[in-house]
Order: sequence, then C-alpha cells, then structure tokens
Amino acid sequence: MSKCKICNNSEASKTYIAREMMFGYGDEFEYFECSECGCLQIKLFPNNLAKYYSPDYMSFCKPNIPKLFFPISFIKQRRLRYSLGEKDLYGILFSKIFGNPSIPVWLPKAEVKSDYSILDVGCGVGRLLLRLRRKGFYNLTGIDPFIKDNIFYKNGVQIYKKYLEEFEGQFDFIMLHHSLEHMPDPLSSIKELYRLVKPKRYVLIRIPIVSSFAWRKYRTNWIQLDAPRHLFLHSVKSIQILADKTNFKVADVVYDSKSVQFWGSELYEKQIEVKKRHSFYSNIKKRQSFFSKKELQKYEQKAKELNAQKDGDQACFYLYKE
Ligand SMILES: [Zn+2]
Repeated sequence: MSKCKICNNSEASKTYIAREMMFGYGDEFEYFECSECGCLQIKLFPNNLAKYYSPDYMSFCKPNIPKLFFPISFIKQRRLRYSLGEKDLYGILFSKIFGNPSIPVWLPKAEVKSDYSILDVGCGVGRLLLRLRRKGFYNLTGIDPFIKDNIFYKNGVQIYKKYLEEFEGQFDFIMLHHSLEHMPDPLSSIKELYRLVKPKRYVLIRIPIVSSFAWRKYRTNWIQLDAPRHLFLHSVKSIQILADKTNFKVADVVYDSKSVQFWGSELYEKQIEVKKRHSFYSNIKKRQSFFSKKELQKYEQKAKELNAQKDGDQACFYLYKE
C-alpha cells in the first residue's frame, strides 16, 4: 500500500499507469491518487530523471537579451510604478504618452511593488525574470538546480544553480511557475519558501490541478500529468494541507487553465507523440491540421468557463505569510 506524502493516508488509493509522452519515450510509470486529499503522485521516483530533462527541455534554452538604454529603462520603470499603484508623476505622464505596460495579473494581485526583491524558483535560464527586467523591475533573482551553471546577466538578473534548501536570503515576493510539481518533497519545499519570504508578503504557486475536469475526462492522457517529470499533481485540498502544515494562509486560488488542456490531451489520446508539442504550441496552423478552427475556439471558450467554475486544470495559489 502506498502512503500519501502529503496527508500520510495509506487507505486504498486508485492507481494509474502513465506513459512519458512529451519526448515520446513511452516509458511507463505508476501513479496513485490519494483517496483522502486527492493528490496524484508517482509511486517510485525514477532514479534516472535526468533522461527526461533533455537539453531541449523548454526552460533550458538560452534567450537573446536586447539591451535597454538608459532613457528607455527610466520611462519603463516610471510607468511600472504607476501601473502598480505607486504614486509617480512621471509615471502618470509616460503612461499617458506610451500607455500602461502589460504586466502579469498576479503581480498587482500579490501587491508587488516595483522595488521588491523577487525570487523565481525553478526559473530555468530565467526567461520570465528577463521579461520582468524589461518591464522595469530590477531586484530579480532565480534559482534552478538543473541549469548548467550560475548565470549573471549584464542587466543584473542573477540565476543560481541551487536547491531551495541551500539557498539563503529574504524576498518580498517568491514565485513558482509550474515548478513545485517537479519537486520530490513538496512539504519541505514549502517550508523553505516560508523561510525565504518576508512576513506580510506572498508566495505565488502556479501548478497543474488534478481536481479538475481535464483529469476526470482524460485521465492518463491528460497532458499536464506529464509523467515522469510531474511527481505530484495537487488538488486544492492537498495544497491547503501543505499550507496548514507550514503556517501559510491560502489568500486566494485563481484558475488560469488554457485550451491546451483539451487539444493537448486529445493529441495524447490519439497517441500523437508530442515531441512536436512545442511546435504545436507556437504554430496555430499545425493545430488546425488536427482540429478545426471552430473546435479550437470551443476549447478556448470551455477553458474560460472551467476557470470561472474553479474546475480548470491549473491554478495560481496565493500563499500569505502573516
Ligand atoms: Zn493524501
């Protein structure tokens, strides 16, 4: 009998056999779904996980960085301040002339300010941090144990090749964009997040959600199961349990699932090995060779509806440290 690593339940849990699909290895892995907290988890951690993170795994491809010249960065930062609700006369002026910068909705929601120290956990080579740098943030750090080496970008963004446990510091905002599900011990990872975030600040955890329509419909063909890279597929309940155990308050849960939960899972159902997945992501024409325009629109619409019903297959958890 498998014991749940979240709630310690060892009562009968349902088991599933999932196959590696992204690169098309087809290797099989056993998962079990805890009957108590609903978390779907891999039974045995593969001892050759590196095989499944090949160099062309999306977050490890190094980006090009355009240079920001001083006047542009000055203007950007002032607009950013204004758009985050900070008083800034230049910001008002520049926003009138150039428009507001488009910033991800979770930043104002987590009450992030332009001078906040931001940590991205599991950041790969730091694409998102670089994007935030271009928006005008400047106190930006990332960690990822799987990158080749530390990266210190000339624009000040710093990326460390480290595990959470070996990392020191205090941050105003910590974010995990689809990285928690790759970590072998979510409870100790969230304890480390609690240590690293300042009081009265937020940690944002974005993850796939197993208590969702897509899991119930597609089961092992659900694209976000992503065996064996995703070790834990959380339910809302299992995250609440982890938050309770670590003293975090779950301030909000916002669903942000996309149409890929349908077209991606449909492709897996058709056994289309999705080495091609990235081109499917970036190439609408390719998607349209499998799905009609109407079907794709229907998937978009359905994703929106599921998010509103809190039944989409991914969500943002806002954990607050009091
Ligand atoms: Zn459990």
